[in-house]
Amino acid sequence: MCGIVGYIGYKQAYPVVIKGLKRLEYRGYDSSGVALLNDNKLNVYKKKGRVSELEELMIGKDVSATVGIGHTRWATHGEPSDRNAHPHQSASGRLAMIHNGIIENYAPIKQELLKKGYEFKSETDTEVLLNFIEDIQINNQCSLEEALRIALKRITGAYCILLLDKEDPETIIAARKGSPLVIGIGKGEHFLASDASPFIEYTKEVVYVNDYELAIVKPEELVLKNLGNEKITPFVQELDMELAAIEKGGYDHFMLKEIFEQPSTIFDCLRGRLDAAAGTITMSGIEENIIQLVNAQRILIVACGTSWHAGLVAEYIIEELCRIPVEVEYASEFRYRNPIINPGDVIIAISQSGETADTLVALEKAKENGAFIFGVVNAVGSSIARISHAGAYTHAGPEIGVASTKAFTGQLAVLMMMALKIAKAKATISDERYLMLLSELASVPEKIELILSRSEEMSAIAEKYLDASDFLFLGRGYNFPVALEGALKLKEISYIHAEGYPAAEMKHGPIALVDSSLPVVFIATNDVYHEKIISNMQEIKARKGQIISIITDGDDVTPSLSDDYFSIPAIDEVIAPILSVVPLQLLSYYVGTMKGIDVDKPRNLAKSVTVE
Ligand code: GLU
Repeated sequence: MCGIVGYIGYKQAYPVVIKGLKRLEYRGYDSSGVALLNDNKLNVYKKKGRVSELEELMIGKDVSATVGIGHTRWATHGEPSDRNAHPHQSASGRLAMIHNGIIENYAPIKQELLKKGYEFKSETDTEVLLNFIEDIQINNQCSLEEALRIALKRITGAYCILLLDKEDPETIIAARKGSPLVIGIGKGEHFLASDASPFIEYTKEVVYVNDYELAIVKPEELVLKNLGNEKITPFVQELDMELAAIEKGGYDHFMLKEIFEQPSTIFDCLRGRLDAAAGTITMSGIEENIIQLVNAQRILIVACGTSWHAGLVAEYIIEELCRIPVEVEYASEFRYRNPIINPGDVIIAISQSGETADTLVALEKAKENGAFIFGVVNAVGSSIARISHAGAYTHAGPEIGVASTKAFTGQLAVLMMMALKIAKAKATISDERYLMLLSELASVPEKIELILSRSEEMSAIAEKYLDASDFLFLGRGYNFPVALEGALKLKEISYIHAEGYPAAEMKHGPIALVDSSLPVVFIATNDVYHEKIISNMQEIKARKGQIISIITDGDDVTPSLSDDYFSIPAIDEVIAPILSVVPLQLLSYYVGTMKGIDVDKPRNLAKSVTVE
């Protein structure tokens, strides 16, 4: 996690860097800092808390410099504090560095340096790496670039680092492995950042730096090298992102904006792919690999967090429609447990950011074992997109709110199209059902619009249950993963303990929690399980639990069992999760904001988990 930004050119660096940090704050926000290099003067300022607190600190400070780097942190080593904030300075004071990632073998290196008399001002792994680099430079009497190369070969873990050297005020040196870095190319200037959002108003020409590459960046020049000191030709790409897409557009929070964007993000995701009238789905990533996909002996879905829930929905749908066995794996477990990957297995990796560290490493491992990897990713050009053999973007646009909303429904839309396309090619679906599901999927944007037009109803429900200390979310079948997602959303942004469970499984444990103070959210839309879930509601009612239900328009039975309900337009059960999750997103948003929580930046979380 954490956001990094750098500028070198003819402009004043500080305004570019501080604005960039605000845009990257979704990546981490427990402290922030900048280092500004003006001729041979290196000024470092840092502060615990949000970027706005750093800005206050900077009032009246000397910020003149045309070279600068900045960092917004998500602590891994050492508590959030002024001294653990980045940038760190080397023992001599000559170097300043920011870092995104974890240096796994920092402890023995620290011991080595302590023995040599180094003292550390912070508890971070970053400061260890920085002094290690300086120590190598001093001992070997070599250039900083060379020292960095030597150091990077000796460390394990993940990093994206930017380095400033007082003695070389015309250069920023950068390197990455496992954490993202994109360089924006201007005329007589360069921008460096974790993603392109800090500089999209300045340039659309970008270079994505790859793992094990070093960038030596000057105002007029960008040199890329590998760790063997060989030059690499930078691959310049055109960025497809507009400034408006990363601004709040009149909403109080990014999360609310992103919830309300869903009709258009899903429309964008379906556009050019789904043609319900013609009965076609066009997805080049699938068409080009259809033999592999149709003949898959097994599909392994690898993901984390909300993306993992999208994977669970996909498991139900792919097994049902394509008759291919599916397993859904937490990337963090998958990567360490020596999984069995057979030829003929297909791996689907799901990630909003495309930078999720656990997923990325899991994929590298699977790739080494010969697996075919299909990426379902939102961030164009991200690491997972690049490592995959084929894939499909969700086209949800930048998601800034830490709690994923529009990226989740975008993932579902892509996975549903995939399943339908494979099922059609495998002939495991009837033409009639295929055409019906296509038109049901095409109706999603309009139906979400209807749900959102009644958001006030959910706000009133949220107000009633604000003070609950626990929530239970229950669903069956396709709506079971939605129950998990509803519980996760609530936990993330309201800090209320919530559990998601398969509705029938609740009898085997969680029912013991039920009393008159426990709100139980049922996702009880019309599907084959409807009668069953009504029985589960009766069981909760008999124990005086408070029932909030998400039901289908026209259902006149379920409301009588519910203390509160929110109804959504009718849709086939296969597609239902894209709709039924939306009221739950609203519920968590309203509960979180009514409790005064900054829902875009909930405590301890970061948007894109680029550390293990
Ligand atoms: N490991 C570093 C630290 O704890 C960087 C963490 C990050 O990526 O934000 O300071």
